[in-house]
Amino acid sequence: MTVSDELYQQVILDHNRNPRNFRKLDDPTHEAQGLNPLCGDEYTIFLKVDDENVIREVAYEGHGCAISKASASLMSEELMGKSEAEARELFKEFHGMILGNEPDKSCNLGKLAVFSGVWKYPARVKCAALCWHALRSALDGDDVVSTEGKM
Ligand code: ZN
Repeated sequence: MTVSDELYQQVILDHNRNPRNFRKLDDPTHEAQGLNPLCGDEYTIFLKVDDENVIREVAYEGHGCAISKASASLMSEELMGKSEAEARELFKEFHGMILGNEPDKSCNLGKLAVFSGVWKYPARVKCAALCWHALRSALDGDDVVSTEGKM
């Protein structure tokens, strides 16, 4: 096992046992449900975006595998205080990284870089990407997104 594999497992375990921001927001400005039928992951993402388009709160509830939950937990931490445009850019970089397209991008992603090896496990890519698809749907004003037919 390499160092990065070990770090990956530690971070996934930690966030799975102790997920950050795992709750419902009472008055979100945006929300969307993300479904990953392949694995059975289901989460609803809640956002509170202020008048300047800055994300002030991120929370989620639902259930799924350790990877989907850890990914949502890490995402919620990274998005806090980011603008909507920055969040969309982060989604693009994260998505490129987990598909193995742009491994050099992982340096911009902070803690999210622990997912940089996920592309080696194609079945897990959708688990890691689910909360991000839900985030984008929430920002776009859509209610539900499924990873079916998406990577
Ligand atoms: Zn999953």
